[in-house]
Amino acid sequence: MRKKLIAGNWKMNKDIHETAVLIKDLNAWLKDFRNEVGIVVCPPFTSLVVARGLLGESPMKLGAQNMSDKDDGAYTGEISARMLKAIGCEYVILGHSERRQYFRETNELVNLKVKKALSAQGLTPIVCVGETLEERESGITDQIVSTQLRGVLANLTSEELKKIVIAYEPVWAIGTGKNATPTQANDVHKLIRKVVSQMHSWAIAEGLIILYGGSVNPSNALELLAQSDIDGALVGGACLKVDSFTAIIGAAVEASR
Ligand code: PEP
Repeated sequence: MRKKLIAGNWKMNKDIHETAVLIKDLNAWLKDFRNEVGIVVCPPFTSLVVARGLLGESPMKLGAQNMSDKDDGAYTGEISARMLKAIGCEYVILGHSERRQYFRETNELVNLKVKKALSAQGLTPIVCVGETLEERESGITDQIVSTQLRGVLANLTSEELKKIVIAYEPVWAIGTGKNATPTQANDVHKLIRKVVSQMHSWAIAEGLIILYGGSVNPSNALELLAQSDIDGALVGGACLKVDSFTAIIGAAVEASR
C-alpha cells in the first residue's frame, strides 16, 4: 500500500515573514495529525532556513523547488544538493514545467539533477513530467510523457528508482483552474507505471509514488486522490493558504481510509 503524499510548491511566493505565518498556522492545524499521509512544503530558497527552524518536530518535511546539477564552484546564483541537505531539506522538486519553459531545462539536465540529488543521501527528488495542451490535443500525451520519463530517469538503478517521486503535471492544468479529470490523470499515472516497469520491473513500478499536479483544490482533491494510481498531489496555488492546503491534506487522509 503506497502512502499518500501531499507536497506544496510555493513557487516565488512568501518572504520570510509570510513564511513564518503560514508554517505556524500549518503546525497549529497539524497538532493532532497522525501521519496518515506524508506532507512536504517547498518554500523559496530564501525561506528554507526560517521554515526549517519553525517546523521543529512537525510531521511536515521540507523541500526545495530546484537545485543545481553541479557540486560546488563558480556557478553564480546556483544552489547545490549538499547545501539543501545541510539546511534540512529532504525533498527537491526537479524539472517543473516552469523551469522547462522559462529556464530552458531539458530532460538531459533534469536527469543530471536527479542523479545529483540521489547522490546527496536522503534528498528525494520529486520529478515532474507532463504534456502541453497542444500535445494533448494532438493525441500524443503518452508519447510525450514516455519520452520525458525515459530521459529524466535514464541510467538510474532500481535502488535509485525506489527513492524517487514522480509528479504528473499536465502543463495546461497548472495555474489555470482547469484540472485533468480523475480518469485522464489516472490513465497517465498508469502509463507512467507501465513505462517504469519496462525500464525496470513491475515491483519497482508498483512501489513508485506518483503525484498529480495541476489546479488541485479542496473541491477536486478527494476525487483525484481516490483514483487507484494517484498517490498524492503536488499543489501550487492552493498550498499558499492554510485553509485550502489543509483541506487537501484532509482529502488525502480520507482517500487513504
Ligand atoms: C504546480 O505548479 O506544481 C501546480 C500544480 O500549480 P497549481 O496547483 O497552481 O496548478
